Amino acid sequence: MKQSSYRHVPHNPDCTCSVCWSKTEMAKPARCLFTPCDQCRPAFVQRIRILKVGKVSGIWTPLISQWQVIPAYTCAKHTPSQRPQPFWRVVENIGKPVPFVPIHEPFELVG
Ligand SMILES: [Zn+2]
Ligand SMILES: [Zn+2]
Repeated sequence: MKQSSYRHVPHNPDCTCSVCWSKTEMAKPARCLFTPCDQCRPAFVQRIRILKVGKVSGIWTPLISQWQVIPAYTCAKHTPSQRPQPFWRVVENIGKPVPFVPIHEPFELVG
């Protein structure tokens, strides 16, 4: 089978090729983007205590509550290194960036 004709053949639902795999991955909820592993988690707000409860349209509803912000946690594997990347040193070595101003016509300073 030629490569061009193969691409038009519909894949099986249980196909394990890379095209079908990426399709399945893209269809997953965006949550996985923020939790790259089971140790990393995004920051969230958690209610730790309800200080006052009142009846709102017949339903007991917390009116005043104490919230606690749980900071995000990034595991060691996903924490960016404190050191600059190796290629950053190359940028440092060439000195300060100098803006390149092209001069198309030479001019004489007047005054
Ligand atoms: Zn496939
Ligand atoms: Zn992680």
